[in-house]
Amino acid sequence: MASPSHRRSLRTRRTVLVSTAAVAAAGLGAAVFAMNANAGAVDLAHQVLPAKDGWAASGTGTTGGAAADSAHVFTVSTRAQLVKALGSATNSTAKIIKIKGTIDANTNDAGKKLTCADYAAGTGYSLAAYLKAYDPATYGRSKLPSGTQEKARAAAKDAQAKNIVFKVPANTTIVGVPGTKAGITGGSLQVKSVDNVIIRNLTFSATEDCFPQWDPTDGSTGNWNSAYDAVTLRGATHVWADHNTFTDAPHLDSANPKYYGREYQIHDGALDITNGSDLVTVERNQFTNHDKTMLIGSSDTDSVGKLRVSIHHNVWKGIVQRAPLARIGQIHVYNNYFDTTTLNGYAPLYSVNSRAKAQVVAEYNAWKVPSGGKTAKLLSGDGTGSIAATGNLVNGTATDLVAAYNAANSKKLKTTVNWKPVLTAGLRTTAKNLATELTGTTGAGVLS
Ligand code: CA
Ligand code: CA
Repeated sequence: MASPSHRRSLRTRRTVLVSTAAVAAAGLGAAVFAMNANAGAVDLAHQVLPAKDGWAASGTGTTGGAAADSAHVFTVSTRAQLVKALGSATNSTAKIIKIKGTIDANTNDAGKKLTCADYAAGTGYSLAAYLKAYDPATYGRSKLPSGTQEKARAAAKDAQAKNIVFKVPANTTIVGVPGTKAGITGGSLQVKSVDNVIIRNLTFSATEDCFPQWDPTDGSTGNWNSAYDAVTLRGATHVWADHNTFTDAPHLDSANPKYYGREYQIHDGALDITNGSDLVTVERNQFTNHDKTMLIGSSDTDSVGKLRVSIHHNVWKGIVQRAPLARIGQIHVYNNYFDTTTLNGYAPLYSVNSRAKAQVVAEYNAWKVPSGGKTAKLLSGDGTGSIAATGNLVNGTATDLVAAYNAANSKKLKTTVNWKPVLTAGLRTTAKNLATELTGTTGAGVLS
């Protein structure tokens, strides 16, 4: 249940007006936001990112579809309705899409359930034939799969992508209807090269690739790689992801088979922020039951000067790594709760990784570490990334995480950064009680 202080904060949130600058820049009529502050009149679907709430509040701020006219407020409960409401990926008409209940992305336009076999039908792909074609014992390990079965795999993959990838256009709010267990299962929201998107109060579950690709050149033993993040930001700007839940459930990695001695991984990221994405606020989400959770920057040469992300008041529990893996950008990680107890077979490698000269400020976060767990393993880096850490607690005790990491590793984290966060709404300068506070106030299903 929401604590009294949280209810206060929600009430405050509803009465926060979009900044004057944001209204002007977005061309929104003041009338849209003319409301009685005493009544707290802005409904969940019309709420905008509060002023100074992380990097997404920068410049024009993030208003999503708040300026939508009544013809562009949609309530959807099927895949086909969601696709129709989104419209073309390049339309920029302000729109609000309310998702009622759980939408299964693996369904056709008539609502019939689609299986991996349905996507593969007519392509000639079969896993057995694929495994035979690219067995390292005969195909070797020096080159990527190519030829008939790889072509067939790619065709089957395209059929699934066409069905499960939802392209989110600019100036859009997608929000779960309270009390309906709102979310998307099996899907991937793609926010690509657009500005001003809000994603709130949704559970993203079971985003699975039916057709993982074998890459014998990935690492020393090769890897199976999957294509879909539950939410993927690529070249996206001004995005607010708030109060969502991310989980692999019900198909956890522990159920993945192994082929060629490697895990047949059907999951990719939970929320990846790549390809020059910028000005993103990730707030009050729950990340759970997942391996590669959040990538910021897709490679060490992703865009310099971008990838600015604020990550605050999230719960990370039962995740293996990338919470986040940060590259290049100025990234603020504050007031998060990391529970590194093994959950459902998800045993953590590390929480926060700073590489490719990333400038991470990590402050007032709390970690729960099981007995025998090592503080030195909560961070990671390549020797070029920075983490300026302040006020972090491990099992309630003030801990210098960077010093612990650096004492145990040769590729040291740098301890100074080239910036100072100023868009820090909600920052509390203590990590005490975060576990209690965040447990009932984060993820989907909390907002009303
Ligand atoms: Ca991957
Ligand atoms: Ca990804």
